[in-house]
Amino acid sequence: AKKNGRNRIERYESGMMEDAVKRRDLEMDMVRALKEGQFSLNYQPLFNLPTRELVGFEALIRWNHPTLGLVPPVEFIPLAEETGLITEIGEWVLNEACREASHWPGELYVSVNVSPVQLHKTDMLRQVTRALAEHGLTAQRLELELTETAMVDDGRRINATLTALRSLGVRIAMDDFGTGYSSLAHLREFDLDRIKIDRSFIDSAPDDVSSLAVLRAVTMMAKDLSIATTGEGVESEEQLARLLDLGCGTAQGYLLGRPMTAEAARALMQTSDAM
Ligand code: C2E
Ligand code: CA
Ligand code: CA
Ligand code: CA
Repeated sequence: AKKNGRNRIERYESGMMEDAVKRRDLEMDMVRALKEGQFSLNYQPLFNLPTRELVGFEALIRWNHPTLGLVPPVEFIPLAEETGLITEIGEWVLNEACREASHWPGELYVSVNVSPVQLHKTDMLRQVTRALAEHGLTAQRLELELTETAMVDDGRRINATLTALRSLGVRIAMDDFGTGYSSLAHLREFDLDRIKIDRSFIDSAPDDVSSLAVLRAVTMMAKDLSIATTGEGVESEEQLARLLDLGCGTAQGYLLGRPMTAEAARALMQTSDAM
């Protein structure tokens, strides 16, 4: 957040024109990146609790820019959303993730981030159906991660799309749970398979009683509603133990595995007993 703040100040100081030029440059660079294959996906492992068995991977986009080097997604996804290019990037991500996952053993699933813009502007049902068919991936091995902002406008249409996707067998996860403005309301309104509890609740200080209370309430309620839970951003054994204690079903974080190349992910599958 601090870094963003600094960038914003710099941008205003450098003037609106320059800012617009920079954004246009980056936008054109993204168009080229799609054409020239500069995007790739990393995969971060997801583990069952308490068994610590590997259950799947979250696909995370990476952009290796020819001159800027690795550009983190937080720096280009928002711009891609503003310009609408996210629809093409998102379709690429979905296809690439399904293609890769079709080579994975057993029941391992791939979880794909879907931008709210993508959900609103494209026919996700058609895109998903096509991607699954093209790569011969069963729907049960695909999960889609949406943020709460995706649920805000046009809730009816979104709900219809999510219901159709779920009836295919695709699972729907709500990402960054707890950071939105009405998380609990959305839990009732939408049929969800999983909530991913935001890192901010996981890495709160051990004496932060309110975060712990939220964590406890969320896991209990999810259990009542038969919704699976994943704890995000687990960095220590203490955090893992707390999640385990609360009955959280899946864990993800640097402690267990960082995002890695597709190749490294395949190697990890071989050494785990996921087969
Ligand atoms: P996210 O979906 O919440 O993804 C989790 C982010 O947390 C990833 O950052 C991951 O590398 C990071 N992370 C995982 N474990 C830990 C941990 O233990 N500690 C800490 N500090 N961080 C951890 P990443 O890859 O930089 O992605 C940032 C965000 O960019 C994502 O947040 C997601 O909102 C967006 N994003 C990434 N890939 C895609 C994509 O393919 N499509 C869309 N629409 N958005 C994407
Ligand atoms: Ca995510
Ligand atoms: Ca998240
Ligand atoms: Ca996020």
